Amino acid sequence: MIVVKKFGGTSLGTLDRIEAVADRIIEDIEQKGESPILVASAMSGETNRLISMAHQLAPHDRSPAYDMLLASGEQVSISLLAMALHKRGQKARPLLAFQLGIRTDALPSKASIESIQTDSLQELVQQNIVPVVAGFQGMDAFSNITTLGRGGSDTTAVALAAALGSDICEIYTDVPAVYTADPRLVPTAKPIESITFDEMMEMASLGSKVLHARSVELASKFNVKIHLRSTFEKREGTWIVSPGGNMMEKPVVTAVTHDPNTTVIKLFPTPDKPQFLANLFSALAKKGVIVDIITQSQSPEGQRLAFSVQSDDRQAALDTIQGEITEATKISLMDDMAKVSVVGVGMQNQFGVAARFFRALASQDIPIHLVTTSDIKISAVIEKPQLEKAANHLHQEFGLEG
Ligand code: ASP
Ligand code: MG
Repeated sequence: MIVVKKFGGTSLGTLDRIEAVADRIIEDIEQKGESPILVASAMSGETNRLISMAHQLAPHDRSPAYDMLLASGEQVSISLLAMALHKRGQKARPLLAFQLGIRTDALPSKASIESIQTDSLQELVQQNIVPVVAGFQGMDAFSNITTLGRGGSDTTAVALAAALGSDICEIYTDVPAVYTADPRLVPTAKPIESITFDEMMEMASLGSKVLHARSVELASKFNVKIHLRSTFEKREGTWIVSPGGNMMEKPVVTAVTHDPNTTVIKLFPTPDKPQFLANLFSALAKKGVIVDIITQSQSPEGQRLAFSVQSDDRQAALDTIQGEITEATKISLMDDMAKVSVVGVGMQNQFGVAARFFRALASQDIPIHLVTTSDIKISAVIEKPQLEKAANHLHQEFGLEG
């Protein structure tokens, strides 16, 4: 059986770990008769190191050179992993995205996969050669190397599984499971056995770094179950699946999640033109700035607009905004912000969840700056120093302690 297995940066962080991963892969081939297709991230810390070199040399360069630089970490890890397999008598072939045919659009540093060729993978598998694919990268229509956004190797893995028609994708990482909250922030957090695609998608887009949001979106679209598990332990981790029959039994809230890198941008008064919002948000989208919570309110002195972006996108957002406003509009920036959210399919059709959420924060005197809700989540932007207290209180309020 073909199984796509993705190994994250920490799992491949040292040569010893790469050897241990190679042992585990061989064991699964021998004991379970699996035909693995491997996807690897760069060794831990490597992508950060590459980014920091770019920042020092040319902080604003987002030409194809930037993505090529970022993608280079995966070339090292797939080569080493293939060599570790060779050393154990297992044939393996490291493959960069352009060699395999992973085509993406041309959005720099945030490209999306458009198509993947799988013929050569099937051929390798038939010849008992283990393909070792570079995660995180692709090639656009102009033959530029592109990257899929931080954490994008997960998306490469799920896209491969989907293209191959597999119904499972294994993601090996340095944590044993998805938790009810980040255990570093909330010590009482406990592992979750199974979670729905929708919940995981919300968690990923609300700041959980466990999985790349787009990987979950793809998994849901092609119904590929993700098994997220530890590289260092044999036990099962968390299954990310489509909703089963027993949704009634689900707790109201499945997890508390947070994003400490939030910036709030406020504009006042905004230009009094009906086109303003359309133009502003189109310009931001064109720059690849992901705008999160947006609120607009009317006051006698004029229109107020507030929205949040990822702190990484702060500069790009400011530059773009400058082009859309005049001096009459004042920009105020709140940098030290965080978003805290509760997620759960069980909150659909439940009364009073928002009330409990606000009460938990109010009881700790935590001011809320922006709020947004959907069927299955409530999020609030708060000041970063309050994050730990907020997350712990919400976790307790919704009965998630282990
Ligand atoms: N190496 C890339 C990163 O650090 C991709 C990944 O790890 O998934 O973001
Ligand atoms: Mg990752």
